[in-house]
Amino acid sequence: MIVIKVGTNVLSDDHGSIDMGTLTTLVEQIATLKSSGEKIILVSSGAVGAGRKELTLTKTLNRVEKRQLWAAIGQPKLLQKYMHLFEQHDIHVAQILATKEDFRDRKHYLHMRNCFKALLSENVIPIVNENDAIAVDELMFTDNDELAGLVAGMMGANALYILTNVDGVYDTNPTDPEAKVIAEILPDATPSLNFASSPRSSFGRGGMATKFRMSKRLASLGIEVLIANGKKPDIINRVYRGEAVGTRFRKQANSSSVKKWLAYQDRSAQGTVIVNEGAKQALLQPKKAASLLPVGVVDILSVFKKGDLINVIDHEGHIIALGKAQYGSDTLEKYLGKNGQKALIHYDYLVITHERN
Ligand code: GLU
Repeated sequence: MIVIKVGTNVLSDDHGSIDMGTLTTLVEQIATLKSSGEKIILVSSGAVGAGRKELTLTKTLNRVEKRQLWAAIGQPKLLQKYMHLFEQHDIHVAQILATKEDFRDRKHYLHMRNCFKALLSENVIPIVNENDAIAVDELMFTDNDELAGLVAGMMGANALYILTNVDGVYDTNPTDPEAKVIAEILPDATPSLNFASSPRSSFGRGGMATKFRMSKRLASLGIEVLIANGKKPDIINRVYRGEAVGTRFRKQANSSSVKKWLAYQDRSAQGTVIVNEGAKQALLQPKKAASLLPVGVVDILSVFKKGDLINVIDHEGHIIALGKAQYGSDTLEKYLGKNGQKALIHYDYLVITHERN
């Protein structure tokens, strides 16, 4: 299964209208890929841009209201275009609009996953976007790259292709004539900040720095990520064939679906504990799976109940891990610093978030 994310900047022409030429060729490529037996989920931006082109406002609206209104008008326009183009290849499409909230609760998350599974098993291509009409502030994804990462993680996709309007991640500032696209990024690579200045569209929110962070995180969970230029001819098929186009984030060993879900829950932790240096080192050891034992916990910063998600921080306040507590903070208080007690967070329910800071 492959998740393909198409950015606003790929879908729009120089005047901000939907670029039908590009959209047509992307749909053709997706149809070809699908006919080879691959399951595909499309994450498409472009609603806000499409709505903005459609309607000249008569009243003064604030930034949020404008975005809501344009998205509400633009999303069906965008879907209509996709539907029309995919119909020519006898492919059914479905619309799924999500907010960040939909990924937070595990039960809800599993319901959403079931919906995707059912659509895929019926050979339908789900077309996903943020529910921009109702997603305001804390309900919002950082950008659609984050949404695409969440969908790829949720579905355990083999790969995520991020199609944007630049050729990939550059080794230096892309405006520098010497700048070259990095063909492959290994799991332990650290970002250089130069590529962050890559151009972004006026309607989309994503930038290369967030793409880089999200891609590395996904690759560390076992999903390969490719960033490539969606305006280039035959780009999806070329990436699929493994040609040297764009930037490929090499994946690490696959991790469980629980861990993939956990990896994106950092803002929903209810409690926080501080661990000593020994516990920190044990958790961060790359090759050994470690649970968090109460002997390594030195303090409880905010209380929590059994089953809550909790942040694990070091003495300097850096978040190093996140996991599900096997008991509440009242029980932990009795075990603090003691040997031979049940793990506070079992390894299967723990993810290291250290590299994200
Ligand atoms: N969901 C927004 C749209 O459809 C785009 C968000 C983004 O650019 O990442 O216009």
